[in-house]
Amino acid sequence: ASQPQAQYLSGLNPEQSDAVESIEGPVLVLAGAGTGKTRVLTTRIAHILNLGLAFPSQILAVTFTNKAAREMKERIGVLVGNTVEGMPWLGTFHSIGVKLLRRHAELAGLRSDFTILDTDDVVRLVKQLIQAEGIDDKRWPARQFAQMIDGWKNKGYAPADIPEGDSRGFANGKGRALFAAYQARLQTLNACDFGDLLCHPIRIFRAHADVLKEYQRKFRFILVDEYQDTNSAQYMWLRLLAQRPAPERPNICCVGDDDQSIYGWRGADVENILRFEKDFPGAKVIKLERNYRSTEHILGAAAHLIAHNEGRLGKTLFTEQSDPEHAKVQVHAGWDSEEEARAIGETIEQLQRPDRNGKRHDLNDMAILVRASFQMREFEERFVTLGLNYRVIGGPRFYERQEIRDAMAFFRVVSQPADDLAFERIVNVPKRGLGDATIRQLHDHARGRGVPMLDAARDLVATDELKPKARKSLTDVVEMFTRWQAMMETTPGHELAETILDESGYTEMWQNDRAADAPTRLENLKELVQTISTFESLRAFLEHVALVMDTENNPDLDAVSIMTLHSAKGLEFETVFLPGWEEGLFPHQRALDEGGRSGLEEERRLAYVGLTRAKRNCHIWFVSNRRIHGLWQSTLPSRFLDELPEAHIEVAEADGSYGGYGGRGQSGGPYGASRFDRAEPFSGNYETPGWKRAQANKSDATRDNWGTRSGPSVERIAYGESGPRGR
Ligand code: ATP
Ligand code: MG
Repeated sequence: ASQPQAQYLSGLNPEQSDAVESIEGPVLVLAGAGTGKTRVLTTRIAHILNLGLAFPSQILAVTFTNKAAREMKERIGVLVGNTVEGMPWLGTFHSIGVKLLRRHAELAGLRSDFTILDTDDVVRLVKQLIQAEGIDDKRWPARQFAQMIDGWKNKGYAPADIPEGDSRGFANGKGRALFAAYQARLQTLNACDFGDLLCHPIRIFRAHADVLKEYQRKFRFILVDEYQDTNSAQYMWLRLLAQRPAPERPNICCVGDDDQSIYGWRGADVENILRFEKDFPGAKVIKLERNYRSTEHILGAAAHLIAHNEGRLGKTLFTEQSDPEHAKVQVHAGWDSEEEARAIGETIEQLQRPDRNGKRHDLNDMAILVRASFQMREFEERFVTLGLNYRVIGGPRFYERQEIRDAMAFFRVVSQPADDLAFERIVNVPKRGLGDATIRQLHDHARGRGVPMLDAARDLVATDELKPKARKSLTDVVEMFTRWQAMMETTPGHELAETILDESGYTEMWQNDRAADAPTRLENLKELVQTISTFESLRAFLEHVALVMDTENNPDLDAVSIMTLHSAKGLEFETVFLPGWEEGLFPHQRALDEGGRSGLEEERRLAYVGLTRAKRNCHIWFVSNRRIHGLWQSTLPSRFLDELPEAHIEVAEADGSYGGYGGRGQSGGPYGASRFDRAEPFSGNYETPGWKRAQANKSDATRDNWGTRSGPSVERIAYGESGPRGR
């Protein structure tokens, strides 16, 4: 019987329909930004369900962020109504990986209640191992090795798989052995890192054909969004799952855009797109060319910029949203980042007021996309001053705070007593007189007996090996944890959390602290307990935190989004602000130093991603002075500005309407630069954009300023940027 044309299909263009309706066999949708790739995926799921080709649980859909997964769930809900029971396996590679691994943990030598370590835990663990080997951890930093491990896992390597020579670079050839020691240690801790969430399932699939077959049968349809950013391990995982017993063909549909591949630095391999047709013979490749998101100016600017990259697959993009009324991409120059934040804040306030057609813009429709997270603070501060609602997306900043990490460590030990890293973090917090010597005793005992440290503590307090004071304190600790563990099954999560924070003396510790930030910490702890109350259990909450990467406090609140360019992938907003287009910041110096030409091209793709998030308005900013760690640096406009087509951009006039130049510029700034110096090049001469002349006038010495920066938050620029887990 032929199905009546479902309503959700009617709005699609012919190529989109083709992609939605080519249900059998491998399909690759390769298309530029805003052409409806994600929409095709969502509609395809609805279509499969509607035709009754599979139960929801037989569909596996991989999204790039948890936020995207949530949105997709909602969209599917709308498309198919509430008639369908259950939900597809829909989430990031990591969240699906953890679900698989909990089911089959024993095949990886873990228990199903294993802990997921975050980067900070991993670095501390690696540091212990490096020190235990007697390696100088100043010369061979733990963080560097943690990154190497991550890199290997992105390729799906176990210690034995590392090619000869690949591990030689670290600690004079000890890399492989350290990696092996690290894996062994994880096993003892009943823990895994993010890479393991993929690598363990791959190894289980390879070693246990029956398990693999079970899932190959189960997942009748596989769909993958943002395919250009899959790494080798993810690709292996997909390929294993997609194989189906002949004569059936793999029903895998991947959508992606090579121009939006921005995770090369984390092991993503755009080659996977090219391999697709080889690995899935007979694959149907569909191109979408109509952009439904952006105006002609935004699209024109983005297309012109990305054309500067070599080695693209190349594609056509057009939009039918063309209108002389449309605003061009606005390029603004500022004196410093304070002015940038002030001016953007003002623009946002203007947008909120009704325009001449009576239209007001929701804050939800606006986003500020930064290259590096240190840029966020300035905006946050400004918005607090203005009373503008905002949310920071893309990194669980909240969960990185010391007091939150401490509290979480208590919870982790209660939920998973073998979690030694957590135990070590808080055993002497607040101070209980448990010094290094006692900790070492605990360590030795734990290692000697092959038990977790909490158990070692339990053993030791029953002996007279400890000094009386330490023994007394440790007895208290052991008793507390025993009590809390007993409460685990019966007490609601937030009550248990509160009890733990009170009885441990942790809350009191901050109450007695005179430091200026102590009250904020107490507020944060309250916030934490409050958040836990929205979860089924403390355990569910811990799992959530381990996976979460985009914390939106309150999705109902009308608020401006602040996030990194990396975490903006796949999203769209009416108005997008792109601050910090300066050499060294964007393109980022680190990417240039480490990646050379390909580093630059990846930065350019990031710029393309940024521009194409905008539907109607896009404001780019660059400033001549930026403060990094309290130090002023003079900066040059980004080379990407030169690569924007003049037909589609407009250099906004520096007319002082943003309330002057903050006093500094008026009287000559910290470098004696005058207002005129700065304002002159941007006098509205569109023929020769001001920044070009400005760039020509600056000496190369200034240009080098960025290369020499160092410090903790710069470290994060290259590696911690996208929120810890883009996938
Ligand atoms: P990106 O590469 O940025 O992830 P995408 O290719 O996934 O973009 P979508 O997010 O799916 O694009 O779609 C972009 C916008 O265009 C969305 O608002 C979507 O609803 C809209 N859109 C897509 N296809 C159509 C269509 N046929 N008719 C009307 N609107 C559409
Ligand atoms: Mg998309």
